[in-house]
Amino acid sequence: MPLEAGLLEILACPACHAPLREQDEELLCEGPECGLAYPVRDGIPVLLVDEARRPA
Ligand SMILES: [Zn+2]
Repeated sequence: MPLEAGLLEILACPACHAPLREQDEELLCEGPECGLAYPVRDGIPVLLVDEARRPA
């Protein structure tokens, strides 16, 4: 399910405030030292550090 247009532009990583980009069913942080992946559930980004997947 694609995110609403324009939504990505106002979202930022809650951990480092870097922009996010959509990839598959996740939002990836573009912060070079962060890189957390946040899940999107039913089209709603879950921007919680506790819910994020740590990069491998
Ligand atoms: Zn981040």
